[in-house]
Order: sequence, then C-alpha cells, then structure tokens
Amino acid sequence: MKRPLDRLLGGWWARAKTTRGIWATVCTAGVGALMISSAASDPHNSVAAAVGGYLILFAAIWWASWWFAGRCARMWNGLVLGTPPDVKVGRPWQQGGTRQQLREDANARIFHDRGGILIRKRAWFIATGAPPFRLDRARLARWEGERFESPVLVAAFRDRYFWWSDDAFYWTNRAELGAADVKALLFARERQRERELEHAHAVMAAASAPVVRRKREPIPRDVRQAVWRRDEGRCIECAGDFDLQYDHVIPFSMGGAATVENLQLLCARCNQAKGGRL
Ligand SMILES: [Zn+2]
Repeated sequence: MKRPLDRLLGGWWARAKTTRGIWATVCTAGVGALMISSAASDPHNSVAAAVGGYLILFAAIWWASWWFAGRCARMWNGLVLGTPPDVKVGRPWQQGGTRQQLREDANARIFHDRGGILIRKRAWFIATGAPPFRLDRARLARWEGERFESPVLVAAFRDRYFWWSDDAFYWTNRAELGAADVKALLFARERQRERELEHAHAVMAAASAPVVRRKREPIPRDVRQAVWRRDEGRCIECAGDFDLQYDHVIPFSMGGAATVENLQLLCARCNQAKGGRL
C-alpha cells in the first residue's frame, strides 16, 4: 500500500517527465531567475527573501507552469498541426459511466527495437491517436510487475492519458485520475460486464419460457423497500438519484416477476436506454 505522499510525488513525477512537464520545469526555473535577478537589482529587496519566497511558492509556480505549458502546447499544435478534434469522452449525461471515463485501446502496445547512437535496445509505447513514446527500459521493467497490482500511467499526449493494467491499455482525458481511481473504474467496469452477461442469460431464458398472459400487478411494498435498500436508493447504472423507477430485469411482458431478484432501481434516463438495448 503506497502512502499518499508517495502517490502525490509519483503523480507529479509522471507528469514532470513528459515533454510538457519538462517545459513546466524550464518555465519554473525561468520564473525563479526572474524573481531573484529582479530582487538583486532592487536595493530595497533582499536576494535571500526572494530565494525563500521562490522555494515556498515552488509547487504553485510549477503547477501554474504546467498549466501554461499545456496552453502553449495546445496553441502550438493548433498553429502547426491544425486544431485537433475535440475528443470528449461520452455524451454529457454519460460522464458518470465507467466506460466513458476510461476506454480500452486495443491497438496500444509496447515493442522493442534496436537503434540510436549506440544501437541500444529501446522500448516504445504506441497507442491510438498519439506518436510513439520512447520508454525508459528500467522503468518499463518495474511496470511489468506493477501493472498487475495497480494501473500505471504509461504516457500522456495532449489530453490523452494512457494507463496500463493487467494486459490491457486504457486511455482517459481526465488528468486528475490516479492509479487508485483507474483501478476502481476498472473494477466497476468488470462488474458491469458481469451484470450484462447475467442479464443476457436471463433474457434468453425468459424468451424460451412459455409466455403466460398475466395481469400487471403492483409491486408489493416490502419488495419495493428491499430493492431500495439493496440498491442504496440510487440508479444502479449511473448512481444518480433523480427520477428513479423500479425496473424489471426480465421484463414483465417476458414473464419477469415482481420479486426482489428481478427488480432494480434505474433512473428514467437509464431505464430508457436499457429499453433500447433489449
Ligand atoms: Zn441512471
């Protein structure tokens, strides 16, 4: 288990070693040089105070520089490469979904070759919509083991952040996600996949069962309460608590009963989306 400080420094280091991070560091050094030289040329100011102030503000200056470097890169890319397509992950109302926050990149992989001045073995990471990244081989060796424990940030390009977990690569445009967040999202995704599979089996079983015409009956009060408690009063798809409905996992029309097992909480929007899928 990593301590929060290690995670914080790790997250910073992952950014600092990118091109954008190097520019941020250069910019931070430039701000320092400016602060100290202006203090030196001003008789009312002491250099020691300027150095102290700079050290205290170092983190803030670095992050401001990171932001600034991102802005500059975007502008530069816009001028040189044309405006990149605005890659939004998911539609606005799907932002909460795990799939939309984190997408698998089936084309991403790591490969090795020999080259450079000393014909050394080199490691590269390639992914969709990004140039190849040269990887440090010692770091790669460490990641090889780490990726099974906790996702690792392999590379970042523009607003795409590439994560490696188990044997798959994922990308997100959310810079603020840490390894623990990515791990949680992958876990939720796996659960969702299992639920979909169960649902598919249930639909198939219901479709092959004889259809009996029944009168639609109201869901008993105790069943409603049990479902509400189990699903914690939230939509099981998006965790929203607006406009919730009791949804039959196997539709009533296909023989689904009004039991706790066959009912789930869905918000109106997710329920509608499910209706389209079935
Ligand atoms: Zn919902």
